[in-house]
Parts: sequence; C-alpha cells; structure tokens
Amino acid sequence: MAKNPLMLDVLKKYQLRIDVFQVKADTIMNNIFEKYPELLEFRKKYAQMRMDARTAEDKGHCKSEYDNLYQQYESSLNKCLEKENVSASDLEYQPLCTLCNDTGYVGNVHKRYCTCVIAEAAQNMLEGSNINDHETIENFNLELFDDSTMENGNLTQKKQMEKLLNYMTSWTKSFPNCDRQQLLISGGVGLGKSYCLNSLAYEVIKQGFSAMMITSFAINEAAFDEIKKSDSGALNMMRSVDLLLIDDLGSEQVLNNITCPTLFNVLNERVRRSRHTIISTNLSAEEIEERYGSRVFSRLIDKNRTMILPLMGKDIRSKV
Ligand SMILES: [Zn+2]
Repeated sequence: MAKNPLMLDVLKKYQLRIDVFQVKADTIMNNIFEKYPELLEFRKKYAQMRMDARTAEDKGHCKSEYDNLYQQYESSLNKCLEKENVSASDLEYQPLCTLCNDTGYVGNVHKRYCTCVIAEAAQNMLEGSNINDHETIENFNLELFDDSTMENGNLTQKKQMEKLLNYMTSWTKSFPNCDRQQLLISGGVGLGKSYCLNSLAYEVIKQGFSAMMITSFAINEAAFDEIKKSDSGALNMMRSVDLLLIDDLGSEQVLNNITCPTLFNVLNERVRRSRHTIISTNLSAEEIEERYGSRVFSRLIDKNRTMILPLMGKDIRSKV
C-alpha cells in the first residue's frame, strides 16, 4: 500500500488521540492503586498466576482458582471505581470510527485505508488548497451552454461539454490508472476551463489523493523562491503531488532562462515519476511551441501521454 503523506498525517492524529487517552486512563488507575493498595496486591497475584499458568511452572493452580481470583479482583475494582466516580468509558477507549476502531485500516489479508481516513485526509487537503467544493462535476450546469450547432463542427457547445463531462467522470474514476496521465484543455476565455480543472481536482482529492492547483504565475514565483531564498518547497510540491493542475498556462510573463526551464523541469520530473498533470490554456499548439520551445512542447503534446481536449463555442461568463 502506497504511503500517502496526507493519510499518514491522519493516522498520526488517530494514534495521538489513542495515546492521550491511554495516559489519562493509566493516571486514573495509578491513583486508584495508590488509594487502594489491596487492589494492586490482587492484581499482582493474578498477574503472577497467569504467568505461572503460561509457563506451566506451577500446575497447582487450577482454572477455577484463577477465575475466582480474577472475579474477586474485578468486583473489588468495580466497588473502588464506583466510590471514586470513575466510569467504564474513562478507562476503555471509545473509538470514533467503529469500522476500523481508529486504527485507520480495514481488511485482514489486503490491508487498506478505512473510509474515515480517506475522508479526513481529503478534507484537510481541500482546506489547505484553493480548490473549492462547489465547482464540481455533480454541480455542472449543462443548461448554460448553447445547444445550436457550432460553426466549425457538427457538435453543439452543450453536446461538447456533455462529452467532456463524461470523459472527466471516467478519468477521475479510474485515477491513477487513467488512459492518459496528462490532460490539456484548450480554448478561449469563458468556456469553463477553470471550472473543469477545479472539478477534476475535487474528484481526485475526494478519493484520498493529493492535488495542487496553481496558476502559471506560480511557476515563476516558485523558481524565484528557489533561486533567491533557496526555498524549493513549492517546486518540490509541484514535482511530486499526485495531481498538478496548471490553470491558464500562457497568462504569465515568460522570463528569460526562468519560466521555460522551470516548466520543463516540473513537467519532466512528473513524467519521470508517473504523476498526473492537467493544464488549461488559451494558447494553440503552435503558440505553445513558439512561447515555450520544443522541449516543453513535446512534453505537453506527447500523444501517448496527453489527451488534448479542445473547447470551442461562446463565452458563457455572462450567464453564470
Ligand atoms: Zn475508520
């Protein structure tokens, strides 16, 4: 099972909750033993008897004697707990999730993350990102799109979006085993590209994967952080996150010896690590090559890895 850092954070939190509880329970019991030393004596005797039975050194103790002692210990303990106003729930951990008992895992043969871990990791990821939970596939409103045949094709804009939506649904459902690891959504302003990026990120996060949505400006900023502040945090995240989404590639300023090498490095590292990347752009293929050069172009338009999803039609922003 892949060790996802988001899941590991949740698991650590669960373990901490159990540890904190255990410390409290131990303190309660220590105070009880201090106040009622005869209880501790009982317990020691019982523990010794169990040990002897296990090592079979003393076969003299028969089971009834052993059970008898335990019952005496239990009833004395219960009386003391009652006197001290300690309830069973103070001493016995009550798990928040009854599926995994807060271990975070389910399944015996094939151990996998419990749904509670996936849901919490996804929530943490969403809260720390600029990805929202309303621009989703489920909330997509096809009625905003024109249903008359477009000039340069035989589809209507509505039909085109419906096809895209179906593709996005199957792509996210099969994530990370998708038919293509890269998507390039191209087209003019106001066709719903940013909405699509958000929906794709949202679906992937909901399944417990990490996703990061950035504007193309962030690539320059991350490069400056590395050069000027020796801070590679943002770039490392861009290289390694499960799904990187670059919104509106082409809207940033191309800085000499900064933008293209950084973009190439990020894309190349992601290809090398088999990570998924989604890019939206207003640029045509020719414009991408002209702006970023053939190395970036070949990484972006590689037919075996990239599904190009061109969008056409009218700007719908006035209808939203
Ligand atoms: Zn659980």
